[in-house]
Amino acid sequence: MFITFEGIDYSGKSTQANLLVECLKQRGCDVLFLREPGGTAISEKIREILLDRHNLAITQKTELFLFSAARTQLVTEVIQPALKSGRVVVCDRFYDSTSAYQGYGRGLVPDDVRTINRIAASGTTPDLTLFINVDVDEVFRRWRSSGLSADRMESSGRRFFEDVRTGYQELAKSEPKRFITIDGMRPVETIHAEIWRIVQTRII
Ligand code: ADP
Repeated sequence: MFITFEGIDYSGKSTQANLLVECLKQRGCDVLFLREPGGTAISEKIREILLDRHNLAITQKTELFLFSAARTQLVTEVIQPALKSGRVVVCDRFYDSTSAYQGYGRGLVPDDVRTINRIAASGTTPDLTLFINVDVDEVFRRWRSSGLSADRMESSGRRFFEDVRTGYQELAKSEPKRFITIDGMRPVETIHAEIWRIVQTRII
């Protein structure tokens, strides 16, 4: 079973992914936890390029290809073998992030993004995608209250994050069986309990 977490930065994805992974492990489940971009030697090198603030000249299409290159390496080297051997794979972000950020956020042509996502995923589709839905004001509040400057996020622009969030909402609408929207404005434990209920119904 392949479970992915999606949402805008600071929506609480990794908090919830960690809680779910712990819960699965406690119940004896053989679970592999990954986060994108990364997870293989090559994908981690690509991650460094993507996160390097000095790479100001990076174009939107270069980002699209780099995220996708890191993903295809992860799928082939790690995700597909793990799923084949019956493990549960939990991934913090997958190709829906590319659709939401590069497609809806940066405005690249949706059909192009879909095609590249399909190539990069090599036929691997999440069984369940949990979209942690939080409004942009809340994300900015969390960013500030964790002691970080909101500059980096706010310099990307409120509009950008609104567009990414709208993108996720559209994606969720288009694939309601796979894509479950979780209200991320509630306390961590309440959200976790809902996610655990959903995952249990899918795993059994
Ligand atoms: P993401 O992986 O989506 O970037 P994180 O899980 O790292 O988000 O959470 C970002 C910040 O928000 C952290 O400081 C975390 O403690 C806080 N946070 C996560 N979930 C909640 C929640 N439900 N309510 C309030 N704060 C939260």
